[in-house]
Amino acid sequence: MRTQIIAGNWKMHKTEEEAFQLASDLKQRLKDVKGVKAVICPPFTSLPSVKRAIENSPILLGAQNMHWEEKGAYTGEISPPMLLTTGCKYVILGHSERRSLFFETDEFVNLKVKSALKFNLFPIICVGEKLDQREANKTEEIVENQVRGAFKDLGAQEAERTVIAYEPVWAIGTGRTATPQQANKVHLFIRELLLSEFGKECAEKINILYGGSVKPENSKELLDMPEIDGALVGGASLDAESFEKIIKSAINS
Ligand code: PEP
Repeated sequence: MRTQIIAGNWKMHKTEEEAFQLASDLKQRLKDVKGVKAVICPPFTSLPSVKRAIENSPILLGAQNMHWEEKGAYTGEISPPMLLTTGCKYVILGHSERRSLFFETDEFVNLKVKSALKFNLFPIICVGEKLDQREANKTEEIVENQVRGAFKDLGAQEAERTVIAYEPVWAIGTGRTATPQQANKVHLFIRELLLSEFGKECAEKINILYGGSVKPENSKELLDMPEIDGALVGGASLDAESFEKIIKSAINS
């Protein structure tokens, strides 16, 4: 059985003070939560203060991106050891906004995945098709290429330490959600791909999260699907009450 993971992607929201407040509020609300992993991913500038806010709580910390190199002349970038010093355990990689707005390729994502694993960070690898690709029946082809690209040269022992987030681009920040059946079908496709590449034992360990306009009103029916092992939540993770409800809906799912 995989433990559900609910990860909040705060994107470019919250000043340091606001982030501290939200994380402190979540710590209070989630203090007795068991049976689900809650991860919050604030902007880089707020990682140290959020780390302080969630000390002695079950909430885990993640970042939204990183460079693959340990250090060097990469102006504006953040390295894996820097994330480790702020207490990060997870890092979101290949988010569709990084791919579309900052031109991240599957090759970049693959370098980042390998580096995250080398530094013992759990990568949350985002994949998903755009609307025109879905309408052209290319969902599986796109998702397969992204998964193969991100996992290139990885062995099963590395692959089992990853998390995948299936996020149809047309559902991110749009209020439009994939139906539980639509999402589950793609999750099953990804699971079978992992199985053929890495074997059953490894494939069954990998959490496949769904992302795309997840809210308290739709989280339970999504999380109840057999192949959906959690959620990557954007907008609704910025509100403590909504995020708490989504996390609690994952218990026993
Ligand atoms: C996301 O940022 O990964 C996301 C799924 O956003 P939203 O929940 O706002 O659609």
